[in-house]
This record gives sequence, C-alpha cells and structure tokens, in this order.
Amino acid sequence: MRLFSKSILPSASLVSEMQTQINISSFLVDATGRSSWLARSRGRKRISYDTMIGLVGVLRPQTSCTSIDPVLQLEAAEEGWWYSAPVPDGSLVVTYITDRDYLTRSGLRHTHFWLSKLECTSYTVARSRGFQIEGDVRVKSASTYRLERPAGDGWVAVGDAASTYDPLSAEGVSKALRSGMSASQTIHNYLRGNGEVLDEYVVGVAKEFEDYLAQRVRYYRREARWPASLFWSRRQINPLNLEGDNFLLKGRDT
Ligand SMILES: Cc1cc2nc3c(=O)[nH]c(=O)nc-3n(C[C@H](O)[C@H](O)[C@H](O)COP(=O)(O)OP(=O)(O)OC[C@H]3O[C@@H](n4cnc5c(N)ncnc54)[C@H](O)[C@@H]3O)c2cc1C
Repeated sequence: MRLFSKSILPSASLVSEMQTQINISSFLVDATGRSSWLARSRGRKRISYDTMIGLVGVLRPQTSCTSIDPVLQLEAAEEGWWYSAPVPDGSLVVTYITDRDYLTRSGLRHTHFWLSKLECTSYTVARSRGFQIEGDVRVKSASTYRLERPAGDGWVAVGDAASTYDPLSAEGVSKALRSGMSASQTIHNYLRGNGEVLDEYVVGVAKEFEDYLAQRVRYYRREARWPASLFWSRRQINPLNLEGDNFLLKGRDT
C-alpha cells in the first residue's frame, strides 16, 4: 500500500494495489479508552495518580428461585470498597475496588484474593448468598490518570484516552460524552484555521481533572473508620497540593 497526501486538505488517501481507495481523515480522534493508543504512539506521557484495580466476579443464581433487589449496592471495606449490581440475565456482578499493591502483597491468585476479601464484608457477602461464582475473577485497571497533553497537531484524545476517574465518581461515561462534544467543537474550529483551540481543549481537560481530584478527596474523607488504611489515606489528600515524590499520592509519568 502507498500513502499519499492530497495537496489540499481535508483528507489523505490510502490506495492499495487493488486500487481500493480509503479516505483518511486529516484530523484524528483518540477514543481508544485506557490504551490511549494514538496519544501514546505519538509519545505522549500519562500522569498516573494511583494503581487502583477492580476485581470483577460474576455470580450465577444457584436456583431459578434466587432473586435480588434491582439496586446497585456499595460497601466500604478497610482496603477498598465493593459494588454489586444485578444484570438482566439474572447474574450478580460483584466488584472489589482496591490498589494493585494489596493484591501483589497477598501472593494470592485473583479469585482467592477476591473470595478472602468478600468473606470480610457484611452486606456484599449476605447479598451473594444463593449465588455461585462463574469462571475466574477478572482484574481491570481502574486507576486515575490524565494525559499530559491530550491534543496535538491534527488530533485530540477524548474519554478515557484523555483522562480516567475513580469509578466511585460514576462520571466515566458522562465525562466521555462531554469530552466528545467539546472535541467536536474544537475540531470544527481547528479545521477553520483556529489553531489556538487545541490549547483551550487541553486546558479544559486539565481543569475538569483538577475539579475531579478535589471531589475525590471530599468523597473519600467521608469514610473515617480506617485512619491507618493506606487505601483510604491515599485518596484523602489532594495530590495537586503535595510536595515530594510519592507517586501514589502525587502522580507520576507512566
Ligand atoms: C471497574 C470499573 C467500573 C466503572 N464504573 C463506572 C460507572 O459506574 N459509571 C460510569 O460512568 N463509568 C464507570 N466506569 C468508567 C467507564 O467505563 C469509562 O469511563 C468509559 O467506558 C469510557 O468510555 P470511552 O469510550 O472513553 O472508552 P471505552 O469504553 O474503554 O472504549 C474504548 C474502545 O476503544 C477500543 N480500542 C482500544 N484500542 C483500540 C485501537 N488501537 N484501535 C481501535 N479500537 C481500540 C476498545 O476496544 C473500546 O471498545 C468504570 C470503570 C471501571 C474500570
């Protein structure tokens, strides 16, 4: 295949030996979620603020009579928090949110670690009675980060590709939609010759991220039962107000 640029934007074209022509947009949107594929392939750094993970177990009802309240339930624990939610096929999805170092230090496999922590809960273990686990518990990153600069000449990052928030905020989807709308306006103005809009977009993402970090502190400070727990204390301080180099508190390039 050979790639050539038309002299006049808005598109370049890719022509295969079969003479199939694919138009390639002159402006790219990185909507690749947590992989930030386009931004990282352009060498953009991410600043991470924690190593939060979600260990996700799917429970199937043991009998057809097993029923469950159709509500999302949250429960705080010493080294994290749980959420459980019924899904339409009758399963119960039970997720333990914690920091990766707790899992690593335990030396346990994912499912054993998740089961050992589930036994220490009150409401979540009660809700899981009558269900049995299906398959292995999966581990998903739930860390907080932002791209140092989520835009460049001819591209922007949106949604999780640009920044990620703690699942406790329940903001991931609405933020992704907001950034998509903001990016569309940015692209429209950029293609009309206003290059400054990329800087404005970058500032907007950073500002929203700062507001989120401040809100995260407010949420996590409401739980005061475990003052010695690293999981809670790591989130009860705003990393932007810190000096020093503890990345779990202050953020680091990843
Ligand atoms: C445990 C957990 C619980 C959460 N709970 C909530 C919640 O309750 N409420 C909420 O609002 N948010 C929640 N979130 C966050 C929410 O899921 C995300 O913020 C949201 O899905 C981000 O949308 P997105 O479109 O940016 O990315 P994604 O939904 O991740 O979509 C990115 C897509 O890009 C694709 N992709 C990746 N790389 C490439 C590539 N190179 N080429 C082509 N395609 C590619 C992926 O396959 C994927 O389909 C939660 C997240 C986690 C981890």
